[in-house]
Amino acid sequence: MRQKIFVTWLSLLLLCPVFGQKKEIHILAANDMHAQIEVFPQLAALIDSLRAEDPSLLVFSAGDNRTGNPINDKYRIPAYPMVALMNLTGFNGSTLGNHEFDVHSLSRLVGLSNFRYICANIFPSDSVNIKTVPYQIFDVEGLKVGVVGAVQLSPQGIPSTHPDNVKGIAFKPAEEVIGQYEWLSSECDVTILLSHLGYPKDIEMAHQFPWFDLIIGGHTHTQLKGDEVENGILITQNKNKFGRVTYITLTVDSDKVTDKKAEYIDVKKYGKRSGLVDAMVAHFNDNPEFRRVVAIADRPFETREELGCMMCDAYISECHADLAVENPGGVRIDSHPAGDITVLDILEMDPFDNNAVVLELTGEELVTMMRTYCHDRYISFPFVGGFKCELILDRNEPGIIKDVKLTTLDGRKFNMKKKYRVATNNYIPATSKIPEGSAHMLNIQTTDILTRFLENNKTVNYQGVRRLTVLSR
Ligand SMILES: [Zn+2]
Repeated sequence: MRQKIFVTWLSLLLLCPVFGQKKEIHILAANDMHAQIEVFPQLAALIDSLRAEDPSLLVFSAGDNRTGNPINDKYRIPAYPMVALMNLTGFNGSTLGNHEFDVHSLSRLVGLSNFRYICANIFPSDSVNIKTVPYQIFDVEGLKVGVVGAVQLSPQGIPSTHPDNVKGIAFKPAEEVIGQYEWLSSECDVTILLSHLGYPKDIEMAHQFPWFDLIIGGHTHTQLKGDEVENGILITQNKNKFGRVTYITLTVDSDKVTDKKAEYIDVKKYGKRSGLVDAMVAHFNDNPEFRRVVAIADRPFETREELGCMMCDAYISECHADLAVENPGGVRIDSHPAGDITVLDILEMDPFDNNAVVLELTGEELVTMMRTYCHDRYISFPFVGGFKCELILDRNEPGIIKDVKLTTLDGRKFNMKKKYRVATNNYIPATSKIPEGSAHMLNIQTTDILTRFLENNKTVNYQGVRRLTVLSR
């Protein structure tokens, strides 16, 4: 009898989770994948091998899954290839990045995803029909993992995308809404912020909301090392386009996270590939129109400014304008080798479906537009065509523009009172200060303008072209 009681107790002990028993939760996190579908065969193999070790592995994306590869972004259903690949590799959740709004297919993509988009500071109206959740609780072998998501907002109060793309959607700053979800920290064993706010903001969040255990970050493409702990909260982030992914291990002991570890893995160097995913990527890549050669680059493009100057010259020539400007964020490649320029190259350089606009502006109004566009930050100051710019930076405040002086291309005085036809894309005037009624939409895509310009010129050479000079005072 005594032996029977002992056996029953022993089996109960074996069946019930023992108090004080340590458990590990494993998470694989990607951020700012920017449509790099080519990496998925290796990512899929990595996830498969990690799931063979721990079937409860959670896979998250901190946003900006799209924008950066026309094969994805210009697909019949724009950006569907990334969704298909994230479905196939078994992502458990994604927050929304600002680039998720770049086209109007978001509502459809959300419907096609096998995972939820977790974002607490977005409030879509019924007409836009974007089904997101502010938080989600995952069950990991009896442990509850609560995840809250958040998207970055620009000074205009919307994510950094064309304002037309977010019509019918309201947003609130993350810091105003995240506090509502503090109850998750008592309800769950682990609480995570899946953030597309950028690293500096993640540090602020760690101080404002100390009840998170982990912040999985994105947006600023900051390559962290793994030991970034702020106010007791581990923060992770990788550079963009699959620079790396993060493998996170959280040790939970009696409802508390007692240890946190982040390890960065270079997926592009991972030795195995998934054959199934390889076949899927090859299917998406099979588009002959993208391989058509439009012009030849005599010399390589070595900087973004060289590419931006070509874009500006294309605006002037094809829109019959006097001057042109192009935002540096509108040029999405940093260089291009000498040789063929294909349709795919143009779409990679300018992936936003922007339209061309001509503005009637005086020199003074042009300067106001450029300065309000970049909020006086040198890093976002537009590239220019038809004139040159001298930027005087504030010696005491790094990167802040104190003054802007224009000259003609051959260095003569610029008439600031005269009205000019200034060509650009529709993003700049939508996000800067311009006189009312000065903008005229042309209903031509900026990629078509660049294609025509290149077809007409046949060869181009922008090596060493610089139109912005920087001085510090
Ligand atoms: Zn972003």
